[in-house]
Amino acid sequence: MAYFIDVILPIPLQRLFTYSITEAEAHFLQQGMRVAVPFGKSKVYTALVYKIHQTAPEVYEAKEIQQILDETPIITKQQLQHWEWISSYYMASLGEVFRSAVPSAFLLESETIISKRVDNEVDESSLKDDEFLIFEALQHQSLLKIQEISTILGKKKVLPVLTRLIEKGVIQVYEEIYEQYKPKLVRYVKLHANYTNEKSLQTLLDSLNRAKKQREVILTLFSLSATTKQPITVKELSKQSNTSSAVIKTLIDKEILSAYYIQKDRVVYDGEEVEASKQLNQYQAEAYETIKTAFTTQDVCLLYGITSSGKTEVYVKLIEEIIATGKQVLYLLPEIALTTQLIDRLQNYFGEKVAIYHSKYSIHERVEVWNNVLDNKPKAQIVLGARSSLFLPFSNLGLVIVDEEHETSFKQFDPAPRYHARDAAIVLAKLHHGKIILGSATPSIESYYNTKVNKYAIATITRRYGDVLLPDMELVDIKEKHRKKRMKGHFSDRLLEEIEETIGNGEQVILFQNRRGYAPIIECNTCGHSPQCPNCDVSLTYHHYKNQLRCHYCSHHIAMQQQCLACGSHELDSKGFGTQQIEEELKELLPNVKVGRMDLDTTRGKYGYQKIISSFEQQEIQILVGTQMLTKGLDFRNVNLVGIMNADSMLNFPDFRAHERSFQLIQQVAGRAGRTKKRGKVIVQTYNPYHQILQQVSVGNYEGMFTDQLNDRRQFHYPPFYRLIKITVKHKEYNRVNESAAWFAKSLRNSFGDNVLGPEFPPVARIRNLYLKHILLKIPKQQSLAKTKDVITRVKNSFSSIASYRSVRVIVDVDTV
Ligand code: ADP
Ligand code: ZN
Ligand code: ZN
Repeated sequence: MAYFIDVILPIPLQRLFTYSITEAEAHFLQQGMRVAVPFGKSKVYTALVYKIHQTAPEVYEAKEIQQILDETPIITKQQLQHWEWISSYYMASLGEVFRSAVPSAFLLESETIISKRVDNEVDESSLKDDEFLIFEALQHQSLLKIQEISTILGKKKVLPVLTRLIEKGVIQVYEEIYEQYKPKLVRYVKLHANYTNEKSLQTLLDSLNRAKKQREVILTLFSLSATTKQPITVKELSKQSNTSSAVIKTLIDKEILSAYYIQKDRVVYDGEEVEASKQLNQYQAEAYETIKTAFTTQDVCLLYGITSSGKTEVYVKLIEEIIATGKQVLYLLPEIALTTQLIDRLQNYFGEKVAIYHSKYSIHERVEVWNNVLDNKPKAQIVLGARSSLFLPFSNLGLVIVDEEHETSFKQFDPAPRYHARDAAIVLAKLHHGKIILGSATPSIESYYNTKVNKYAIATITRRYGDVLLPDMELVDIKEKHRKKRMKGHFSDRLLEEIEETIGNGEQVILFQNRRGYAPIIECNTCGHSPQCPNCDVSLTYHHYKNQLRCHYCSHHIAMQQQCLACGSHELDSKGFGTQQIEEELKELLPNVKVGRMDLDTTRGKYGYQKIISSFEQQEIQILVGTQMLTKGLDFRNVNLVGIMNADSMLNFPDFRAHERSFQLIQQVAGRAGRTKKRGKVIVQTYNPYHQILQQVSVGNYEGMFTDQLNDRRQFHYPPFYRLIKITVKHKEYNRVNESAAWFAKSLRNSFGDNVLGPEFPPVARIRNLYLKHILLKIPKQQSLAKTKDVITRVKNSFSSIASYRSVRVIVDVDTV
C-alpha cells in the first residue's frame, strides 16, 4: 500500500502538492504538522500537512518528504477552516495565507539565514553533536545560510536540527536586532503640602535664613514655577539654583519639598500588583447591559461611544467575565494604536494574562506568544495585537474586541492575502462560537449601516467620562485670513492666539498635519522643474533632518540640491508643507516653547513612538506636531488645544471614502483635547469652512454625516450597497500595461457590463519601475460573490495563458478600502 500527503506550500500557487510517505509516517502524521519537502530543482520548503491519503497524484510522480518537523500539530482545525475562508473570500492561495499566518521562524527554507542568539547563555553540554557543530560554526561566522549548514553537517536534512536549536534558544532566524528600551522615570519636585499657604511659607523662609543654599533652592523653585507653569525636575532645579542635588535631597528629607513622578502608574508592567477594574458609571453600565442583552441573541455588537467615554473600561468588564469562564480573548487594534498606554492599562488589570503580538516584536517573542496561545496557557489568555494576531492558534476564543473598528489600516495591503482584519475576526469568532465587539467613536459607514439593518446590535455612550464636554470646535477661514494678511506662515492669528493662551496656562497643544498630499517638494522658481524619482512617477520630497530629497515609494534618495538640475538657477523654493516645516515655523514664532514631532521619521524603531509619547506625557514637550499617528487612542491629560493645520487636503482626496475619513480623522484628533478637566478647544484651519463635512464635524453631527454619505453611496453604487473588487495590473513596460489592462477589463465587461470601471492609471502611475493600472469591479448585493470570483479567476487564467501577458502581474483586492 502506498501512502501520500497533500501539503500546503508557503508559495502563491493555488494547488496543494502531494508527497509520498511510508506507512509508519502515515500513522504518525496528522493534519497541521510541518514536514520538510523538496521542491523544484534544489529547494527545501517547510510545508503543512493538510490531508493523509492513499491516492497517487495523476500527472506527476510524488517525491518523498525529507523530514517530519513536529511531534504534534502546530495548526489547529479551526485555524485551517479560517485560512480556507480567507483564501476563498480574499482570493489568495492557501500557501499565501500559511506564509503570512505563522511566525517566519516556523518556515525554515533553504534560503533562510541563521544567527546565534546573544541574549541567551548556552549550556554546551546540553547540545547533541550535530547541534554543537552549528553552535561552534556560529562562533566564527555570525550568519549562516541553510545551504552552508548542510555542508558543515555533511547532510541534506538539516531542518530538524535547526528546529531543535531554535527551541533550545541557541539560534534565531536572522533579523534586525531591536533596540532595548526602558521607560524613563523623571523625578519632579514641588513644595510640600505643608507649605501651600502664604503664612507657613513665610515662616519657612524665615527659618531658612541661615541655610542660604536651601533658601535659594526654594526661591528658585518659585520663580521657575511662576514663569514656566510646568512641572520642575530635580535636575532643572539643581541647575537653575546652582546647588547640588544633595541640597535638594535634604529639603525633601525635611519634608519641605516633595518629590514625585508624573504618571508613575504608567510604567511598564513589572509583574507586581494587579488593580481592580473601575466601577462603571451610569452610561457605561447601560452600554454594558445593552451588550450583554444583545449577546443573548446576536454575535456582533457595535459599541459606539464618543472619545473619552470610557469604552476601554467597558471592554475590561467584558474581558473579566470571559476569562473567568476559562476562555480566551483577542483584543485587536490598528498597529499604530497599540501604544504602551493601553498595554500598561490592561496589564494593570490583568497582569501576566495579557500577551502582546505585533510586527515590531522580535520573531522570538512572537514564537513565544504563539506557543502560549497554542497550549492555552493562562499567560496568553488575553492577546492584545495588531491584525496578524488573528492568526494565532486559539483553541477557545470567547470574545474578540475590534477597537477603532473604522480604521482602514485593518485592511492588509500587501502581500496577499489582502484581508480585512475586522471582517476576518468576525468570521474567526463565529468559528469558535464567540462574541464580537466593534468599538469606535466614529463607526465606519458599513458597521453603522449594519446596526441599522439589525445585522449587528448597537450600544452607545454619548457622554465623556467625568461629564467633560466634547471640545469646542472653531472653523477658521484661511482664505480670508490670507486676504487680510493675518497669516504667519501656515498659522492663522486665531490659532496662534489659542496656542499662546494654552501654553500660558501651562497646558499642552497638539497640531495635526495630514500626511496626504503634504510632502514638501522642491521647485525651481526660474524654470519650474522639480526633481523626480527615476523609478516612480513622483517628485522627490525634501527631508530636512538628513538634508536629502527622498522618494516615499521606493526610498531612492539624493543630496539636497543647491542649484536647479534643469537650468542651474539657484532660486529653489519648497512647496507643500509637512510636519517638519510646521515644527520649524513654530520654533521661529515661539522660540521659548518646546516643540516635538511625531511622524514616520521620528518614530522608527521598536520604541521610537513610545519615547515621544512618554516625553509628551512628562511634559518635556509643550507642543506636539504630528500626522495620522496622533489620532489613535492616545490619552493625554494635559492637552487642551488641538489645531488642525489644513482640513482641505483630506476632503479633496479622490476616493469615495474621503468624506467619511475626514470626518473620522478630525473627530478623532479633536478627541485628544480636554479629556480630563475642562472643556478643550479645537481650531480647524480650512479654505472651505462651509463644506458640509466640516459643518457636520464641528457640531459632532455623525448621524447627519452618515445619512448624507449613505445617500451618496447608494446613488453612486459603493459599499455598503455594492461590494468592490479592485484589480491591479503591473508591468515595467507602459504599453504592455495599457494593452493587458484593456484586455482584462474588456473580458470582465463581457460578464459584468457597466459595473466594470477603468482601467485607469492611479495618481502615481509608476512605482519601483512598474507601471500600474486599476480596474474596479462593482458587485450588486444580489449578484453571487462566489460566481463573480469564479469569473475573475477564469479571466485571470486566460490572461496568463497569453504569452505576452505572462510576465504581467495581476493583483486582486477584494473589499478594497
Ligand atoms: P475611550 O476609549 O472611550 O476614548 P477611555 O476608556 O480611554 O475612553 O477613558 C477615558 C479616561 O477616563 C481614561 O483615563 C479612563 O481611565 C477614565 N475612565 C473611564 N471610565 C472610568 C471609570 N468608570 N472610572 C474611573 N475612570 C474612568
Ligand atoms: Zn530651473
Ligand atoms: Zn521612487
